[in-house]
Amino acid sequence: MKIRVDGEEYTPQRIFCIGRNYAAHAAELDNEVPATPVIFLKPPHCLVGAGDDVRMPQHGSELHQEAELVLLIGRTGSPRSEAEAWQFVAGVSLGLDLTLRDVQLSLKAAGLPWELAKAFEQSSPVGEFVPLSALEDRDRIRFECRINGTSRQSGDTALMLFPVPRIVFQLGKVWELQAGDLIYTGTPAGVGPVYPGDSIEVSAPQIGTFAWTLKPSHPRR
Ligand code: ZN
Repeated sequence: MKIRVDGEEYTPQRIFCIGRNYAAHAAELDNEVPATPVIFLKPPHCLVGAGDDVRMPQHGSELHQEAELVLLIGRTGSPRSEAEAWQFVAGVSLGLDLTLRDVQLSLKAAGLPWELAKAFEQSSPVGEFVPLSALEDRDRIRFECRINGTSRQSGDTALMLFPVPRIVFQLGKVWELQAGDLIYTGTPAGVGPVYPGDSIEVSAPQIGTFAWTLKPSHPRR
């Protein structure tokens, strides 16, 4: 998938995801509020562009939507401080970190990694990106997720446990950031099941509105 923002074209090679970044969401899943960000990765083939088909995976039964602010890294390197972190962000969008909750719960109970629950094909729908310069207030982005027109999640990035500069700085301490990296920044409370036929819409006044329809799974040969 290619991403265009501000006349530049990016090809994401990695998707970083932050878990438990909103206290009310950590509480709804009975998770402790972490002292450092929970980080996991997804490969880029999980990405689905705005409006493209999303199919129900076949290896689980409870698919949850997680609406999240998504950052696009615009340059290679690592910020030297949190104060420098925004300079590495080229644009923002909204996306879904689709999660097979039943699979994740059994993996967590067994102390196993989360890939089967998180990194399956089409697990990362993402909208179009707006350049950072187009935002009126980058520190307070309000967003909403609606299922079949009914509001299910309301987010405000001012409520993040780990704000954007801290996330970008922390990731940069471990990985050299690359232009095109995407960062899903965690979901607010209100995650819940979605079913084939459902329309999942994310929107933010500062960013735009993007929607996906969940299709039944493909029979495997
Ligand atoms: Zn998530």
